[in-house]
Amino acid sequence: MEELIAKTAELISKSKHAVALTGAGMSTESGISDFRGPNGIWTKNPEAERQAYQSYYKFQQNPKQYWIERMTGTSWLGDLINALPNPGHFALAELEKMALLKSVITQNIDNLHQKAGSLRVLDYHGNVSLLRCFSCDARFDPAEFELARLLAEDRLPPLCRKCNGVLKSDIVHFNEAIPADVARESQAEVGKCDLMLICGTSAVVHPFALLPRMAKQYQSKKKTIIIEINAEPTPLTEEGISDYLIQGKTGMILPKIVEEVKKRTSKPISGCEISNCHCLLDEK
Ligand code: NAD
Repeated sequence: MEELIAKTAELISKSKHAVALTGAGMSTESGISDFRGPNGIWTKNPEAERQAYQSYYKFQQNPKQYWIERMTGTSWLGDLINALPNPGHFALAELEKMALLKSVITQNIDNLHQKAGSLRVLDYHGNVSLLRCFSCDARFDPAEFELARLLAEDRLPPLCRKCNGVLKSDIVHFNEAIPADVARESQAEVGKCDLMLICGTSAVVHPFALLPRMAKQYQSKKKTIIIEINAEPTPLTEEGISDYLIQGKTGMILPKIVEEVKKRTSKPISGCEISNCHCLLDEK
């Protein structure tokens, strides 16, 4: 394990365009259950999975009822709004600050990468802290809409300030298309990346699970190193899409990688007199 961590740090230090792909496993150490891990919500309660597949259909059939249920029911994922990032999220934010990680493409809806300080985050499956217009894809802060008041006054669903379309949660439900802007930007990031860290995902949800496969397909043009950090092997491990798996917890492994990266990038090049200068990074 320590050898793989050191090797990953070395590869990140030398990379030109590293990106991280993340999933629910990133946030289990923040107290948010995943779906398919050994203690996952769906592993323990298959009925929850069945219901999750109904949400998008419900919205399309009756947006008002969808909103009433959202506002009066309880979420399977618990209190996402008040959840806090863990050392894994902070480690990725730190790699971005060091100009080594260019973006995070996350399946998570919990906003924890942003809370940890990551700036370039592509919310592939949306973000629980936003609303999105079903017609024009404009995003809004829910606070702008006084949702509790709309519920009390029987004026749900909220409507888009730009085009008057119906607003839904920004969360991408099962069977709903990935918002076009996020899909396009994620694909562009995958096209550019020469190193991909895949953290805490079972890699079975499509089309997200295609992103590492796309990176692999670009191999004829450029080599992309694909590294998984996950509690267990995934189809990416088994099909040889990833170059290797560091098996364990992201909240423990990612901070260790950052420590190792720092050892490699804080050494000034010969002749440089500025202490702790990052000129090794600038050299790339
Ligand atoms: P998943 O539940 O299918 O798989 C999670 C994977 O992470 C499993 O392989 C599990 O063994 C591993 N894992 C769990 N804890 C880990 C840890 N601490 N360190 C390393 N690995 C760990 O999750 P998925 O692949 O992201 O797909 C589930 C879908 O559900 C996604 O679309 C996501 O949007 C959604 N989801 C999001 C959240 C969230 O926002 N936090 C939580 C649950 C589900």
